[in-house]
Formats: sequence, C-alpha cells, structure tokens
Amino acid sequence: MSVLELARAEIRALVPYSSARMEAAGGQLLLNANESAWAPFGDAGLDCHRYPDPQPAALVERLAALYGVRREQLLVGRGSDEAIDLLVRAFCRAGKDAILVQPPTFGMYAVCARVQDAAVVEVPLSVDFTVDAGAVLAAVTPAVKLVFVCAPNNPTGAGVSPETIERLARGLAGRALLVVDEAYAEFAEDAGAAALLDRYEHLAVLRTLSKAWALAGARIGCLLAHADVIALLRRILPPYPLPRPCVAAAMEALSPQGQAAAHERIEVVCTERTQMTSALRRLPGVRAVLPSQANFLAVRFDDVGAVYRRLFDAGIVVRDVRRYPGLGDALRITLGTPEENARVLAVLGEGA
Ligand SMILES: *Cc1c(COP(=O)(O)O)cnc(C)c1O
Repeated sequence: MSVLELARAEIRALVPYSSARMEAAGGQLLLNANESAWAPFGDAGLDCHRYPDPQPAALVERLAALYGVRREQLLVGRGSDEAIDLLVRAFCRAGKDAILVQPPTFGMYAVCARVQDAAVVEVPLSVDFTVDAGAVLAAVTPAVKLVFVCAPNNPTGAGVSPETIERLARGLAGRALLVVDEAYAEFAEDAGAAALLDRYEHLAVLRTLSKAWALAGARIGCLLAHADVIALLRRILPPYPLPRPCVAAAMEALSPQGQAAAHERIEVVCTERTQMTSALRRLPGVRAVLPSQANFLAVRFDDVGAVYRRLFDAGIVVRDVRRYPGLGDALRITLGTPEENARVLAVLGEGA
C-alpha cells in the first residue's frame, strides 16, 4: 500500500494553483507576476519587490544536509506549525477522520484537528510521562490517519526512546502516518527519527529553526517525509510561503559560522539545564523537577499559584501549565542565559 492511500482523495486529485514563478523560472525581464519593477526603500539587496522562490533551492539544500535527508524528502514552511496544519488538512476528512495524541502534550495538534473538524483520540502518557506504545497502537482505529508523537515532549521535557519510535513505526505501517515532532531534538541525547525515513514510508518528522537555531521570529520549519508526501503537501502549501528576509536569516544561521554559534548556545543550554535541575531540586517548596531533554524544565511546586505570582511580580514570565493533565502543580520554565536563570533561582529562593 502506498502511504498516499491514507490521504484525502480530493487532495490527491487536486490541480494545484500554478504561480507565475512556477510556470516560468529564469528570464531577465520579469513582467509576468505584476510585481513592482523597483526595489522598496531600504531593501538592502533582498529584492523584496520580487515574489520569493516557493522552496528556495539553497535553503532546501542546506536543511536537507543538516537533517541528513534528500531534497525531495523535505518541505520548508512557516514554522513546523504550518506543517502540522498541512498534514491534518491533507490526511483528515472533516467529520470523519481523526488524529491521535498523548496528553499532556503540545496543543497545536488538537487545535489544527478541530479547525479541520477531525476528531482527537487521546492516549495519555504513562505516570512517568513516557509514551505507552502498546496503548497507542491499540487505540488506532481506521479513522485515525495521523499519530503525533512529541519527542522530546512539550511541556514535560521527556524524551521518547528510539525503540518506542520504531515500535510505533512498525505497528502503524499501512494504518496511519506517524508524525514525530522533534522541535527540541537538538537538546536531546537521541539522534532523531530522520534516519528511519527510508525504511518507513509512513513516517514524518517535524523540525524547526525556532528553538535551538534562535529563529522563532523568522518562522522557518520543516517536514521530513517520503517524497510522495512532500509532493502532496506542496499542492496545498500557499504559493509563496517563505518571505525573502526570513530565508536570508535562515541562510545566515545555517552558514558554517552560524552553525558553530548555534552549537555553542546548545551546549550552554544543556549545561544550564543540569545545573538548574539540581539547584531547583534543593529549593524548599519545589516538589519535583521533571527530567528534561529540551530547553525548558517542568517544575512542580507546593504552592504553584503563589510561585507564579512571585515570579511575575519580579518581572519573570513563565508558562503556567496547570491546565494540562498530570501537571496541576507545575510551571514550565524556559532556560535562559546563565544570568537569567540565576535571577529565577534568586526570586524562588527569596520566598522560601
Ligand atoms: C515550539 C514548538 C513547535 C512550533 O515550532 P514552529 O516551528 O515555531 O512553528 C512545534 N512543536 C513543538 C512541540 C513545539 O514546542
């Protein structure tokens, strides 16, 4: 069975919009897209008067090398959020199909499903916040087209073992697409699932430049998947999703110097994670710090409301995750610079 058989028939049959730039690439006098003939004020060589390349070859090349995949296995979009939305729209028929998630987890999967009127099947994480692969596989009905696994998970920080990912990939063959969201993979010990792509055509991996690459403001994310899935999603991707300034920022960040800088920062975050984990565990009023493979810590407090307010009054905003199942006493604290983390510890220490 081809993985495309899981997708919506209308999308497979869709004749996509054909943009001016797609119909005729190259040429010297570009009079086919109703653009301005003049660069805008302050353009600085970006050529923002021209529509951007739908999938800029140089950026695709660099990202494919970074993630160890072939170019045709990669789609660049406006953050991995856009890839989540595209997957749900391409694979789930409104009112009929479903996605499967493991709460507590990232909220966008369910939001995109609800916008598409797809059902959301929930298989809670185990008490230690690991993925229960047996329970996930048992809950997959024919309606479930996408199984999202967040590895490492947001908001708990827990990693997902490669064995669990492979067990899910094997068990879902011919049944559903396995979507592994690796937004925090750069901070984790395990290598990530992209290496499995050639073995499982129904595997998809989400990566982003928003976290470890410090480009949340540029909105660049990727879907890595079978070339047929990438080609299918390109049909519903808007014609010019990637603004020129964002592509330029991503190219800089992915240059050799940019990569070196990013790796240094990742080291700092991982060192801070270890130190903050032990420092927080020593503080009175802290019940637990969940083991994290990401750039944040989920922390349980005796009086979580008071701690949130104390931090807020000191000008420190953290994420209140009390509404998530199993996290009723927790805050999610992003790891900042060593100075910022020291400030968090100082404020938390004062109230003790
Ligand atoms: C931050 C985050 C994303 C979103 O990334 P963008 O590329 O900025 O859209 C995706 N998944 C998870 C789990 C995240 O925490």
